[in-house]
Amino acid sequence: MHVDLSSLRLEKDTLINLLTSKDQESFNYLYTKVDGLRKEFVGDQVHLRGLIELTNHCRCRCAYCGIASDNTAVTRYRMTKEEVMASAKRAMESGCKTVVLQGGEDPGIKKEWLADMIKQLKKEFGCAVTLSLGERSKDELVAWKKAGADRFLIRFETSDPVLFRRLHPHHSETQLEDRITLLKSLRKMGFEIGSGVMIGLPGQTYESIADDILLFQKLDLDMVGVGPYIPHPETPMGRSYKEQPPIFVQDSVETAYRVIALIRLVCPDLNIPSTTSIETSEEGGYLKGLQRGANVIMPNFTPLQYRKLYEIYPDKTCVNQGEVSKKSLTKWLASIGRTISDSKGFRNKCSNDHRESCRKRAKC
Ligand code: SF4
Repeated sequence: MHVDLSSLRLEKDTLINLLTSKDQESFNYLYTKVDGLRKEFVGDQVHLRGLIELTNHCRCRCAYCGIASDNTAVTRYRMTKEEVMASAKRAMESGCKTVVLQGGEDPGIKKEWLADMIKQLKKEFGCAVTLSLGERSKDELVAWKKAGADRFLIRFETSDPVLFRRLHPHHSETQLEDRITLLKSLRKMGFEIGSGVMIGLPGQTYESIADDILLFQKLDLDMVGVGPYIPHPETPMGRSYKEQPPIFVQDSVETAYRVIALIRLVCPDLNIPSTTSIETSEEGGYLKGLQRGANVIMPNFTPLQYRKLYEIYPDKTCVNQGEVSKKSLTKWLASIGRTISDSKGFRNKCSNDHRESCRKRAKC
């Protein structure tokens, strides 16, 4: 496989060929080139986003998710303001400059309560605040932006509308379009926007993954997260997966690395996390992801008693681990020549001319 990055036409067929290539040696060579592109565009600093799983209540029934509302076996929790502030303090001490408040689509998270929380986080720590709380009303989003929230993450999980319907049985026919519309309105409100997909979903094809990559590019996202699908046994999708997995994607972890690398190629200046689901699927995955295009890590600062209850998928790496210290993170990143970022890690958007010249320098 010879890939000329200076003339790489990232059309759908090219992406499918790269995703399905059996020539792993050449792909490894492409990884080194992509790593060079990552260095050129976003540098060696790794942005740490401290993850706080605020609530595991959710009104949705996503077919893959272990905390969906129809799983009655889950013990539900909602963190208090004091608990969130204490978790954020630990995140700051460990080198994070962002806190990510993540949770299910929980009507119990009230507009005013969260707005106050955001203001308090900004005042006390001066950090960036990312929200990942599902689909919320315009009124709530406007209030949270006004309170100081900087980013909003909402994944579409797949750009295949038929598969999307299967993943989200509680939503209407037009839901994929609705989610894309929501991402666009979040951008208009002034949020940095992030989305992402899972790799290896039952029924997912390489063709639809190529479409995912093209959609990331079209939406001009600021952050994209990718990880392998890990079946949860207490979900409709997990149960049917066990009986008869309709799997087209052969190696979801390797494909996730390839997708990260290809996203870095098509959108070289955005932020890409090396995700916990990669590390859960393959020990050492965090570092491999960082060497294949990623530049963000999201260490978990949810109190341990809640962490095990936020089981979107089983056996999450972070569940039984203690919290990571700045010293250990520094040493760990230094093992691959990287450092902890001293900035909040907003996307530094590049001009098209700069993108082209960088691609040419990375020619292989
Ligand atoms: S994926 Fe998110 S929105 Fe869907 S059920 Fe799980 S927590 Fe709720």
